[in-house]
Amino acid sequence: MLLTDTQELLPLFIAGERRLGRGAESETFYPATGEAVGRLRAADAADVEEAITAADHAFRHSGWAQRKPHERAAVLHRVAALIRQRAEPLAQRQRQDNGKPISETRALVASAAGTFQFFAAACETFEEQITPSRGDFMTMSVYEPMGVVAAITPWNSPIASEAQKMAPALAAGNSVVVKPAEVTPLMALELAAICEEAGVPKGVVSVVCGRGSVIGDAITRHPLVKRVSFTGGTTTGKHIARIAADKMMPVSLELGGKSATMVLEDADLDHAVNGVLYGIFSSSGESCIAGSRLFVARKLYDAFLDKLATKAAALRVGDPADERTQMGPLITPRHRETIESYVALGQSEGARVLTGGKRPQGALFDKGNYYLPTILDGLTNSARTVQEEIFGPVLVAIPFDDEADLLAQANDSVYALAAGIWTRDYKKAWRIGRAVQAGTVWINTYKQFSISTPFGGWRDSGLGREKGRLGIQQYMEQKSLYWGL
Ligand code: NAD
Repeated sequence: MLLTDTQELLPLFIAGERRLGRGAESETFYPATGEAVGRLRAADAADVEEAITAADHAFRHSGWAQRKPHERAAVLHRVAALIRQRAEPLAQRQRQDNGKPISETRALVASAAGTFQFFAAACETFEEQITPSRGDFMTMSVYEPMGVVAAITPWNSPIASEAQKMAPALAAGNSVVVKPAEVTPLMALELAAICEEAGVPKGVVSVVCGRGSVIGDAITRHPLVKRVSFTGGTTTGKHIARIAADKMMPVSLELGGKSATMVLEDADLDHAVNGVLYGIFSSSGESCIAGSRLFVARKLYDAFLDKLATKAAALRVGDPADERTQMGPLITPRHRETIESYVALGQSEGARVLTGGKRPQGALFDKGNYYLPTILDGLTNSARTVQEEIFGPVLVAIPFDDEADLLAQANDSVYALAAGIWTRDYKKAWRIGRAVQAGTVWINTYKQFSISTPFGGWRDSGLGREKGRLGIQQYMEQKSLYWGL
């Protein structure tokens, strides 16, 4: 049984102990049915203080920071193994927590295990640099852990986002205080329990749940917090960056997106249709990298959009527990209202609804936050519906005339997180891939990830990079030592 499989009030992880928070009681709900799936008492300001003070104490006295890299790595390998042992119950619990189809939550759990394994190896093989003698001195460049690091995460892929921050921070020798999204606290609590079971000393990992504007804010401002690794909305990210500027605290910010996916005249059309659909409608479009702006060569436009709309209408929207489901519900009733208001805005801006644009009908959908895959066209790139992040299953399609027109439109966005290019011409793919402004560019594929490849955004999509062998470095301070000879 998992820690969170209980009808009891869930304890938080604070100062190495499992205990109830002292804040308000809250429930979390299964987006597919509206049933309550978790009850907990959130943290209050005193809990935050206790978690951070304990994390700082554990940083200085638990020995975690001083352990040899291979010893920390062994613990992190055990975390990966425990996640794998419990993969199925964790995937089922994650499904209840955020309503993603089971096929997707299994992938998220596998990714979390892979992340711990990767950073265990990165920790073990991390090399300091020594420069040879320069006559009367030599230098060593060394890296030190920072102390208490905060991980603040959103609700759309909780276990993967949390692992992506906890694993490198722990590998580097830090203590971590995790603040999961209000509506999806369960996976952070499970990961903390697994870390403790694997041998991470008490106090090194804490989880404090509660409202972002109160608990997240208090964590960010705390003088003992030496770095915040944040994933979430751009407005929140900028707020955190302002606080960080006052503290001269490094931050990494993984923020919103409105990614361009581009279908060129010579694309393999069936492959492109499937890729575009996956890019926007997997995870119900609740994905920072969703390919939500589609640019199609004018010559292909009508035929491509016909095919796309027909296939989008045939996607299996339904019960996330069903293995065959391709799109589940949205996270909350309120979020669905936001999506609906964007579709209405699009229509008021002149959009045609090619498919979707409403809730599905039928008994299965009565209680869940379902919405149909939706494709709009007839808008220009400057419309608000095309420029603003909707974070739902809404794709806006626009034709383009030539490469210059395509790049001008694709790059005309405050966001620059990801992009997709569908073409058979590798030279064009290279040229456009270099010219498009985005942290990640997929060519003839979309939403594929490798933990060894850096990930992050430009402009309003964020600051800093996660993943990759050097992902561990952002959780360390660099120091140069000079040795007189
Ligand atoms: P959000 O910004 O509302 O919340 C994210 C986290 O920040 C939550 O834990 C929240 O409680 C906390 N928070 C809120 N206000 C805070 C404050 N004042 N101080 C500190 N913490 C605060 O975002 P969301 O609605 O949970 O997530 C959706 C957003 O996340 C989208 O914009 C999406 O694009 C983005 N996202 C980005 C990535 C990426 O890797 N670039 C990945 C996933 C999601």
